[in-house]
Amino acid sequence: MVITYEFTLEPDNNKVITYSYVTRDKCIVIYESRWYHGKKFALEFIVFLLGGIKMIEKVNEIKKEFEKTSSMITDMKTLNDIRIEYLGKQGKVTELSKLMKDVPNEDKKEFGMLVNDVRTIVTNTLDSKKEEIETKELNEKLSKEKIDITLPATSVKCGAPNILEKVVEDMESLFMSMGYDVIEGPEIEEDLYNFELLNLPKGHPARDSQDTFYLEGDKILLRSHTSPVQARVMLEGKGQKPIRMVCPGKTYRRDDDDATHSHQFMQIEGLLIDENVTLADLKGTFDVAAKHLFGEDCVTRFRPSYYPFTEPSVETDISCFSCKGKGCPICKNTGWITISGAGVVNPKVLQMCGYDPKKWHGFAFGFGLERVAMLKYGINDLRAFYLTDLRQNKPFDRKEDK
Ligand SMILES: [Zn+2]
Repeated sequence: MVITYEFTLEPDNNKVITYSYVTRDKCIVIYESRWYHGKKFALEFIVFLLGGIKMIEKVNEIKKEFEKTSSMITDMKTLNDIRIEYLGKQGKVTELSKLMKDVPNEDKKEFGMLVNDVRTIVTNTLDSKKEEIETKELNEKLSKEKIDITLPATSVKCGAPNILEKVVEDMESLFMSMGYDVIEGPEIEEDLYNFELLNLPKGHPARDSQDTFYLEGDKILLRSHTSPVQARVMLEGKGQKPIRMVCPGKTYRRDDDDATHSHQFMQIEGLLIDENVTLADLKGTFDVAAKHLFGEDCVTRFRPSYYPFTEPSVETDISCFSCKGKGCPICKNTGWITISGAGVVNPKVLQMCGYDPKKWHGFAFGFGLERVAMLKYGINDLRAFYLTDLRQNKPFDRKEDK
C-alpha cells in the first residue's frame, strides 16, 4: 500500500499538490495540480480507471456476467460474437490482463490467477458450446435428409491399361519363363548405338529405311528400333558372359501416320548370345513364342531376308489364324502373316560390341508390338493405339484378367 498525500490551502506559486492512493481495495488515483498566481491548473491528471470498483470484484463480476450470457448461446453467430466480446483484442478478459501492470506487486499473483481462471472458464465453456451446437446442427441436417434407395446407383467407370501394355506384359512373362531378362534402354540414343555398332555405318543404304528424328546434329537421335539396347548389353557383358534378354519399348521413325504406319511405335526385341547357338535355336524359340501368342495350332516358317546386324537374316511368318491357310483379307490370300524379323547375330556386330565371334554365337529377333496386337485383337488401324479414344480402348478392358 502506498499513500502519498501533500496538500496546502494557501495559493502558492508552484506548490505541488499530489494525491496518490494505491491499494488492492480501491482504485488507483494519481492527481497532481499546481497553484500558479492564485489559480489552480491541472497539469497532469491521471486516473487509472477501474470505475471505483475493486479489482478482484471486477474480475468476479466479469465471470458472473459471462455465466449469464453464455447460458443464452444457442447458435454459432451468438457464440462467435460472445467469443469476440470476451476474448477478442479488446475483449473483457483481454482488458483485465492489461491491468496487471497497475496492480501492486504483492497482489499481482492473486490477480493473475483469477484472470487466468476466468480465461479458462470462458474458453472451455465456449468450446463445449461450439461442439454442442455443431452436433445439434448435424443431427438436424441428418434428420432432414432422406436416401432414396430405389434410385439407380452412379456407375463407376473403370480404366484399363493400353492394349499394347497387355501384349508387352504377356511377352515379357513368356520370355522370362525361358530364362530371359527384361532390359530397358534410353529412347534418346546416340548414333553410335542406334546405327554404327549394329553394322550400319554412316552412308549405309539401310539407314534410309530407318530415318528418324535428330536432336543434336547427327549424333543424338530418337532410337529407330530397340536394337541399340543389344549393343549396350553386349558392351556391358565385356565379351565374357552369355546374354539372354528381351527389351520392349517405344521407337520412332519419320513415317507419315496411316493405318499401318506411325511416327511412334513399339518393339520387343530379343537377344541370346552363348556358345554353340544356331539358327535352329532361333527357330525353336520363335515357334514357342508364336504358339503362345496365336494358339497351339500355329505353324511357323522362315523366309530369307536382309538386315545389316544379322547374318543370315530371316523374316518369320505364322500360318493365318483366321483362315487356317486357305486365304483371306488378313493374310492377303497368302495363308501366311509376317510377324517379325530375326537372324543370327552378324559376327561384325559381335566383334564391335566386344564378343569374340569365334567363341560366341547368338540370335536376335524383333516383334512390332502394334502388329502383334492388331492381329491378336482384330484392330485394323494402327492409329487406334495412340488416339486415346476411349471407345476404341473399351473393348480391350482387362476385366478378364481379374
Ligand atoms: Zn488368312
